[in-house]
Amino acid sequence: MVFQIHNTLSGQKEDFQPIEEGKVRLYVCGPTVYDDAHLGHARCYITWDILYRFLQYLGYDVRYARNITDVDDKILNRAKELNEPFKDLAIRFTQGFHDDMEALNTLPPTDEPRATDHIDEMILGIEKLIEKGSAYQTEDGSVYYRTASKTDYGKLWKQPLDDLKQEARVESEAGKESPLDFALWKSTPDDDTDSWKTPWGQGRPGWHIECSAMNHKLFGAQIDIHTGGADLIFPHHENEIAQSEAWTDKTPFVKYWMHNGFVNVSGEKMSKSLGNFSTIKRVLERYDANTLRYFLLVNHYRMPVDMSDDALAGAKNRMIKIHRSFKTACQTLGIHPEVLKEYPILTKDQAPENPYLADFEKQMSDDMGTPKALAVMDEAIGALNQAIAKDADALPVIRGLFAQALSIFSHFGFNSALIFASNDENLPEETVDALRSIYKELTGQWLEADKDPAIILKEIFTLRKRAKEIKNWEQADAIRKHMSDLGIKLIDNKDGTTQWERV
Ligand SMILES: [Zn+2]
Repeated sequence: MVFQIHNTLSGQKEDFQPIEEGKVRLYVCGPTVYDDAHLGHARCYITWDILYRFLQYLGYDVRYARNITDVDDKILNRAKELNEPFKDLAIRFTQGFHDDMEALNTLPPTDEPRATDHIDEMILGIEKLIEKGSAYQTEDGSVYYRTASKTDYGKLWKQPLDDLKQEARVESEAGKESPLDFALWKSTPDDDTDSWKTPWGQGRPGWHIECSAMNHKLFGAQIDIHTGGADLIFPHHENEIAQSEAWTDKTPFVKYWMHNGFVNVSGEKMSKSLGNFSTIKRVLERYDANTLRYFLLVNHYRMPVDMSDDALAGAKNRMIKIHRSFKTACQTLGIHPEVLKEYPILTKDQAPENPYLADFEKQMSDDMGTPKALAVMDEAIGALNQAIAKDADALPVIRGLFAQALSIFSHFGFNSALIFASNDENLPEETVDALRSIYKELTGQWLEADKDPAIILKEIFTLRKRAKEIKNWEQADAIRKHMSDLGIKLIDNKDGTTQWERV
């Protein structure tokens, strides 16, 4: 079985064959750290986390670089707004990004180069480009890439150059030979403290040269896979190709280009004004990381995804069932939650005698076909449930299915620590219905959401909290009594939140 990748450069699915046998050089454009990461970032970095994991599953020795863009106009403007040194601001949001990535259970990259640590490399590259006639200096001390010098400029975006000219942001800087030319270096006043000294004056790097320089420093002239969001194809990745290929004279700079689709929120393209979905942190207040991951992977990475509470609630229900199946299996097999973390995960060598794992590999090998590969995980879990229901003493069979299901779960990057973390004890259907009726009684309307008891309980607890705030003790006590009648004990925490357990 060969891993096939849809290569943006050729527009086709191709067999993956790394430049150097057994090794993969993978570069992912990282965040520009001036704000909290949002759902677009979650999708991008979960997608490439899956690629990283799958390449390792296939046995490759992967060097995975994900950069940090820590100097950029957006960072400098934000720093000015907040009256904070831009380096401090970048460090703060880099930490926030790391926290988000950890919460999402993405593996750390092997290399995390920062743009500001690669200024010398950028200057070196720009000097080379000027020397070769691929770049020119303007009167104010800025340097531009001469797109006319690259005959195949536009090969990634694949649109006629006239259309590209329309796309190219019209920059007001004087002295550009063509609207397609882009800044490698932007001059700044001599007394500007947020800039660097260069042979052609004081200034700051353009964004595109950062990635070319970091790639060059880490990997040399050529890499296997370069990825990023589809919005980076033009101009960012097109310009990276132009710079790197002219700099080193090696073509192609990147063998396989992969791009993930957009995230739409309730039909609108991701933007910052979308309340609950605005940041990863806010989404994780309502849904666990496994739910978010499941929701994203149920869509193929190249397709756009539509984010909404309904869609996430559906994923949450599915994840609750998955967690429950693993819990039941752990109880049946006598596996303690603490031990689960170290449970041996099946590897590619074991796929021949583990049909679900083999099927997972097959689906993933088709351009990371996560929707079908997730369906395989669901089948394995279904078989596990059935085996337990049929004969809970048939331990070897149960153990075999458990190992396959849990291994696929892990290869997808789901966090097994969350299996036991969520309080979603198996409430009987009648209890869930009763909870919905209680909500109706309290508010006069049915809860729009699904039948997820965790969400209904959360809503009821909020009503109780409000009742207490306005000293409506009668209602607060009635809610506690209702819960108690249903066998649900409430535990009030000091921080104002309420937990529950079954009695
Ligand atoms: Zn980049």
